[in-house]
Amino acid sequence: TYYYAIRLSNGNVLRVATEAKNFFSIYDDAVPAVLVSCVLILLLSVLLAFFLTRQLVRPIVTMANNLDDVEKNVPYKELEPFAKAIALDQKNRQNGEKIRRDFTANVSHELKTPLTSISGYAELIETGMAKPEDIAGFAARIRKEAGRLMALVGDIIQLSELDDASEEGAGKLTMEPVDLAAVVNECVQDLQPAARKAYLVLSAQTEPVMVEGSRGLLMELCQNLCDNAIRYNRPGGKVEVTVRNVAGAAELCVKDNGIGIAPEHQQRVFERFYRVDKSRSKATGGTGLGLAIVKHIAILHNAKIELESEAGKGTSIQVLFPEQN
Ligand code: ADP
Repeated sequence: TYYYAIRLSNGNVLRVATEAKNFFSIYDDAVPAVLVSCVLILLLSVLLAFFLTRQLVRPIVTMANNLDDVEKNVPYKELEPFAKAIALDQKNRQNGEKIRRDFTANVSHELKTPLTSISGYAELIETGMAKPEDIAGFAARIRKEAGRLMALVGDIIQLSELDDASEEGAGKLTMEPVDLAAVVNECVQDLQPAARKAYLVLSAQTEPVMVEGSRGLLMELCQNLCDNAIRYNRPGGKVEVTVRNVAGAAELCVKDNGIGIAPEHQQRVFERFYRVDKSRSKATGGTGLGLAIVKHIAILHNAKIELESEAGKGTSIQVLFPEQN
């Protein structure tokens, strides 16, 4: 309230006053208008959000309906990484499916061949068509084919276990500190009879190096590499296995001076059932899965594989394990 006052000559005081609204009464008057505006703004925002969301989502729905050509139907730049990720995922899935289909077809084919010959020889014996002097030879062939089947089934089971472990991460495996040199020395010791039988010199040069891994799988990896180096070799050849410590990391190398691998086959030998010379592989008891198993074991140990080879001169396969802390 504001006052204006003057003292008159007779001593009286004349006051003039005007009523003024205080702050709270202004507030009281404004509340309904403010509330109405708020509700209006809220309604407007909801409506706007609804239309904007529809606008944003519509192209994504269109993209989802055209997943086959997702990268060609990107409505705005911001969605490009999303489209790329979807396209990559789709490609991986398609590749995975193709690999699975090929694998099933290959397995069926690989199983059928020995089974057909087992059944053929057994039939000859059963119907009496085999001469008595041939029976022992046929039985030996049946046993050889059965052995091939067992090796094949063993490798398929191993690969499927490794597939499971890869999908669930290495967590499913019991990883522990393993002395790679001890594993390699044991592996080389076990394969000495096979090397001698093939007239080869198999030797190991190792220094103690610890690796975080599964002892059983590391042994399998070493056996597969050495087994190949022996089988794809010539009488009088040699196989050298080394384990070195390279700046805190472990390096396993299996080197042979055997038949070697031509450049066009070098990347493909790690594929399941890929063989350079199918008849040689089969004649020496190969299943076509050895290097695929090696590759899987290396991946589970975060190790890298490097292959160097020259046809007619020899092959060297290095497995580089990650540095230990
Ligand atoms: P396989 O059971 O046929 O040996 P792998 O997967 O172990 O199957 O190897 C795939 C192919 O790679 C073999 O068939 C062979 O042609 C080639 N290969 C592997 N290791 C060697 C090697 N040390 N020297 C020459 N060729 C090799």
